[in-house]
Amino acid sequence: MKALLLSEYRHLELADLPTPVPAVDEVLIRVAACGICGSDVHGYDGSSGRRIPPIVMGHEAAGIVAAVGREVRNCKIGDRVTFDSTVYCGSCDPCRRGEVNLCDHRQVLGVSCGDYRRAGAFAEYVAVPARIVYRLPDNLSFAEAAMLEAVAVALHAVSLIPIAPGSKALVLGAGAIGLLVQQALRVAGCSQVFVTDVDSTRLTLSESLGASAVLPSGDSLIDGILRRTGGSGVDIAVEAVGVNSTIASAISCVRKGGNVVLVGNISPEVTLPLQKVVTRQIRLQGSCASAGEYPRAMELLSIGEIKVKPLISAIAPLEEGPRWFERLYGREPNLMKVVLSPGNFSA
Ligand SMILES: [Zn+2]
Ligand SMILES: [Zn+2]
Repeated sequence: MKALLLSEYRHLELADLPTPVPAVDEVLIRVAACGICGSDVHGYDGSSGRRIPPIVMGHEAAGIVAAVGREVRNCKIGDRVTFDSTVYCGSCDPCRRGEVNLCDHRQVLGVSCGDYRRAGAFAEYVAVPARIVYRLPDNLSFAEAAMLEAVAVALHAVSLIPIAPGSKALVLGAGAIGLLVQQALRVAGCSQVFVTDVDSTRLTLSESLGASAVLPSGDSLIDGILRRTGGSGVDIAVEAVGVNSTIASAISCVRKGGNVVLVGNISPEVTLPLQKVVTRQIRLQGSCASAGEYPRAMELLSIGEIKVKPLISAIAPLEEGPRWFERLYGREPNLMKVVLSPGNFSA
């Protein structure tokens, strides 16, 4: 099969690799669409240490079932499916508590990090355990389905905190995750959702997706939020960047007793304005990946409550993968999600 192989850092090549053979509990999927994730771009040059070559990356994918192991019951050949990016064991303590995102034996497709190496979906075929496979609603295209992982991440982040009807929220960072969190907060009952970013084109997109107001990041942000919340601050801030300045802004913009959800994690460490957090009794809640949100994500996309099409900047054949990776790596403006499509599918 054809696959996009990271053969050395910053070098992707179209390689001929053996088509995987599904184990008894696995499903072989003919990949129709696979999104390039920020984590793939960070892994591409070796900076994250989680894409040690040689590796086929890609974990945000959808396609058609091409073969099933003999113990597989939840899908059959020809089904249109997607799958969780996380392979969990199902039997450790976190898994038994339903926190499969925190599985002690967690593996992510398309990651090689020293502990394990697991082939991903920038390829014509990928084999995955049947327990992480979901059948797609008919009205979802493969390219939209490749966004489900990000939608599930957004829903999970929002599910971790109490949201009273009519709450006001601020999203910091209008990348793909931030724009999905924005929509998930609305679905969860927030009456006003504000969004901030350094990039004005992203804010325009955020506005078109229904943000109550968009605010440039910087010194004026806190004033802008206080003005829109009667001087008290928002009930909820969701941080989708992960650097000092945005974390400090999130803590400053939330009301006393409010919640800050931390999703972004570009920096391994940040400075914490401790006294603001303690004396204003702010709750900090980390959020990692997703745990069971795929069915809800599919439903919300299917009924149009969450929109992903505006976030897809391009759908390109697998062969063009190396070029798109370089463009994303070079931080080309106005690029949001790029979806690669192996084979002759209409994604
Ligand atoms: Zn991802
Ligand atoms: Zn587990």
